[in-house]
Amino acid sequence: MNLLWKSLVISILILSTPPYPALCKDDPYYNQRIKMIERDIKGRGVSDKRVLAAMTKVKRHLFVSPSMRNAGYEDHPLPIGEGQTISQPYIVALMTEELKLKVGEKVLEIGTGSGYQAAVLAEMGTDVRTIEIRKGLAESARKRLKDLGYKNIKVKYGDGYFGWDEEGPFDAIMVTAAANHIPPPLIKQLKDGGRLIIPLGSTTYYQTLTLVTKVKGELDVRQIIGVAFVPMVGKMLGE
Ligand code: SAH
Repeated sequence: MNLLWKSLVISILILSTPPYPALCKDDPYYNQRIKMIERDIKGRGVSDKRVLAAMTKVKRHLFVSPSMRNAGYEDHPLPIGEGQTISQPYIVALMTEELKLKVGEKVLEIGTGSGYQAAVLAEMGTDVRTIEIRKGLAESARKRLKDLGYKNIKVKYGDGYFGWDEEGPFDAIMVTAAANHIPPPLIKQLKDGGRLIIPLGSTTYYQTLTLVTKVKGELDVRQIIGVAFVPMVGKMLGE
């Protein structure tokens, strides 16, 4: 075979191999994950390459119970136990993109759940603190994230309404449970120039995903889209 033919065959082989071949090994869900990103995330307008790369890396199927794994990349929320859900992948991507995170920033998440969103935030190169009010979920997420090797995530069991004062202030805060107001401690723990994203509205029905930026002590508020999250409980509901 002459050199031209050889290089043609090699290029065809390279082009027909999916990207990141190392990631495909031992991961039967890789193709489903890529499809989810193309169809449900890029397809709906999320274009930040770092967000897409983070979502390519985190194996969503490992954050649900083994019996739910085959549904791990479907376009909807999934149960994670205790009546709670892991958000639809598009919403995870959108919320992450809207925070415009820079490498090395410190982020607080309220509502650890399975730990999936925390893992995506960590893959953005940020230092993550996350709070979960249900003890069982907090413990299993902590173990899962440790087993997956995340050293830049700390999980706390408690009411996220009060934030995490000793760890603040934060460059960004993400609330992943429905709230009827923004908890004042979270605003206090947000740095100047910091961004906070929260599903704001009714804790029992629908909310509006709202992005708040702290500018010289004032809040700049932008509404994004309608969403339906599980309620933020504890102090939020006067409990
Ligand atoms: N981000 C999660 C999914 C969030 S579901 C993931 O990636 O899997 C909402 C979570 O918020 C639930 O686990 C619920 O127990 C938790 N939650 C509700 N109220 C809370 C509060 N006041 N403080 C901390 N967590 C809370």
